[in-house]
Amino acid sequence: MQTGDGLLARLRVVDGMLTPAQLGEIARLAALHGNGLVEVTARGNLQVRGLTEASTSPFANAVRAVVEIETGLVVETPPLAGDDPTELADPRPLAATIRALAAPLGERLGPKVTVVVDGMGQLSRAALKADIRLTASAADSWALALADQKQASLSTDEAAAAVFAILSELAARGPTARASDLVPATPAATQITRPPIGSFTRRSGTASGIALPFGASDSTALIALAALASRHGIGAFRLAPQHALLALDAPPAFAIDAAALGFVTDRADPRLRISACIGSMGCASGHIPARLLAEKLAPALPADRQLHVSGCAKGCAHPRRAALTLVGRDDGYGLVIDGTAGDTPQSVLRPDASESVLAAAIRQG
Ligand code: SF4
Repeated sequence: MQTGDGLLARLRVVDGMLTPAQLGEIARLAALHGNGLVEVTARGNLQVRGLTEASTSPFANAVRAVVEIETGLVVETPPLAGDDPTELADPRPLAATIRALAAPLGERLGPKVTVVVDGMGQLSRAALKADIRLTASAADSWALALADQKQASLSTDEAAAAVFAILSELAARGPTARASDLVPATPAATQITRPPIGSFTRRSGTASGIALPFGASDSTALIALAALASRHGIGAFRLAPQHALLALDAPPAFAIDAAALGFVTDRADPRLRISACIGSMGCASGHIPARLLAEKLAPALPADRQLHVSGCAKGCAHPRRAALTLVGRDDGYGLVIDGTAGDTPQSVLRPDASESVLAAAIRQG
């Protein structure tokens, strides 16, 4: 995808599992072929930024030599699927059946069509939008929702058949069709899910969740994290929603050392309530260094507020409404209350506004 800081590559790592060595190598390749920024997205995919027409192909070949990359229909399961003692059902077999059934539909299905199969354990995917969602209510019982409108309760076999029928209907309509075309639009309730930060129990061990600040790290920080994980004897990370990585069987000292490298290790960290793009430090459209500014303003953010710091009115890091949005403009900083980065700001602060002036505006906003 073309973005304001070059080409962006999204990597769907098979099973969302990476060894520390694989994570470190991808970070090294991101610096070699891109601008060195690596993101874990809100859905838990890896993204690499700043690639060029010339570097994309060598990057793709090098990455495929490091990890297996998934293609085809996006069928997502929670990050601890099959290894979560609290889940009502293991969603992986049903997800695998749906992937196999969808394979012949190929590119007649649009690339954004997403199926979520959620066993409802400690870390669910309830807060993430899906064209088709199957939510376990018991070992062999799934609630089917289309564009997040509940449709039916089904057995595992019935659920697979129903999803295939819906996907076939979407394929027949062509690659722009989405599940929202098949049902009347009704606003879905916003779901809040537990951030995957802190300690979680696995059937066979533990998982320690940490997050990339604002969803992104430079290659130096990620290479340092990979080396740290190796030193602590961690065998693998699982990619997780909300920009997180779950370190499997990490000793307690790992989180302390990861925090010292700048990673988010505490659910109360205000950076978890801030979205910010790279801004002028990596994007040609940016008026302000949004992520750098967000780091400085985080301590000023009231505990019950969410903030979006955007390099420009496009609002890439958080296209939806936010309680507070600080947006870079030609003439300074726009402050939008309960709106998007593209909305008319309630006030505009001068381009030479100090950090303390900006922090005061955030506190009062
Ligand atoms: S919102 Fe940020 S990343 Fe998107 S175009 Fe503007 S400055 Fe660039």
